[in-house]
Amino acid sequence: MKILIVEDEPKTGTYLLQGLTEAGFVVDLARSGSDGLHQGLTEDYDLAILDVMLPGMDGWQVLAAWRAAGRELPVLFLTARDAVDDRVRGLELGADDYLVKPFAFAELLARVRSLLRRGRQQPTPAVLRAGDLELDPIRRRATRGGRRIDLTAKEFALLELFLRRRGEVLPRALIASQVWDMNFDSDTNVIDVAVKRLRAKIDEGFEVKLIRTVRGMGYVLEAPPE
Ligand code: CA
Repeated sequence: MKILIVEDEPKTGTYLLQGLTEAGFVVDLARSGSDGLHQGLTEDYDLAILDVMLPGMDGWQVLAAWRAAGRELPVLFLTARDAVDDRVRGLELGADDYLVKPFAFAELLARVRSLLRRGRQQPTPAVLRAGDLELDPIRRRATRGGRRIDLTAKEFALLELFLRRRGEVLPRALIASQVWDMNFDSDTNVIDVAVKRLRAKIDEGFEVKLIRTVRGMGYVLEAPPE
């Protein structure tokens, strides 16, 4: 499987190149939008990872030019944190998924594999759901039973992780690396405190509780039977 990375930031580019190569992919790295555009048009790739902010030609323009030329390869966009417009615009232009910087490499690898498996047929579902709880990652909105829930950026990321991995028990270390981008230190209770706050917001006042503690293991979000 051959992947094209278009990323101008040297550290991130090298990190991605090494990580994906170690994961067994054949990887090319382009360091500007125009180089990336050219490479994507002249060579065959199974997937491209496109940074949005590139000097000269940005990630949107590269993607638009590929699509205009009939290049249908799956594209994973890298966007700056909370740049909501970037995500909406990227998905409208035909990006298949996006990842917010900074991200854990494991998360990137999971997205890459999932995009390669499904090809371009099924775009990412716009809204994540569990029972009457809904989260729209693009418009940054969460509701339960139709009622808006106000979440901090961390709580939002935490809930998004729970919903993307619905039914899976998530160890604290995994939550720490995915949401806080930090190594888990068992002395800290930052995760337990955050989960407790999130629960208060999404479960309090509802008969069906969605987030459950699994003793000694972590937390799980389970959807009630339909
Ligand atoms: Ca950049």
